[in-house]
Amino acid sequence: MGIKENLDKVRERMAAACAVCGRAADEVKLIAVSKTKPLPALEEAYSCGCRDFGENKVQELVDKYEAMPKDIRWHMIGHLQRNKVKYIVDKVFLIHSVDSLRLAQEIEKEAAKKNLCVNILVEVNVAEEESKFGTTSGEAAVLVEQIAKLPHVKVRGLMTIAPYVEDSEENRRYFAKLKQIYVDIIHKNIDNVFMEEISMGMTGDYEVAITEGATYIRVGTGIFGEREYTVI
Ligand SMILES: *Cc1c(COP(=O)(O)O)cnc(C)c1O
Repeated sequence: MGIKENLDKVRERMAAACAVCGRAADEVKLIAVSKTKPLPALEEAYSCGCRDFGENKVQELVDKYEAMPKDIRWHMIGHLQRNKVKYIVDKVFLIHSVDSLRLAQEIEKEAAKKNLCVNILVEVNVAEEESKFGTTSGEAAVLVEQIAKLPHVKVRGLMTIAPYVEDSEENRRYFAKLKQIYVDIIHKNIDNVFMEEISMGMTGDYEVAITEGATYIRVGTGIFGEREYTVI
């Protein structure tokens, strides 16, 4: 199947998942995760209406940013090293993967230099997987409070990467937990925090994530097909 057919299918299933839980279809936004994919694939998705693209490597995001139309909203969804923040602060619409105060402080520094305000999500490792980045569930609220003091960084919500599972229902509890942490933070009424986005759900489990409150889902394989990683 081609990208257009894949996208039609994903959009259909998103709408169906919204209908099941009584949410309006426009409450959930689709990020086309284009990491490792060549420009023609992104151009095809763009021509099918995609304007939100997700990348996990700084260099690849910068290259694609230069090559693609300027009305695209770029989402940094991968682990971000502090020494690379300067290359993307003026190119990203949203950084999903902020998991430490030190990283947020670096974003603050680079954003201040360019007189920008950078939107971020705090990444939470809800499933407590050792292989994954992200702050712990218990520390998320404190981290949000600390980041809120940085004038050039705006916390817009939370993100999680759920485990890879055969049965997507197994991830429901993690999505529900992220939503709970999100609601708890809203109730703290922290200045300079705008809790409005929950980024969760990938190709294997986005319908479950939608029924648990996702506002962004991040879909790669389901749109572009399997990724091939070249091993050197
Ligand atoms: C690769 C990636 C995705 C997309 O994964 P698929 O299973 O291909 O949909 C989503 N989120 C993050 C953080 C990723 O790195």
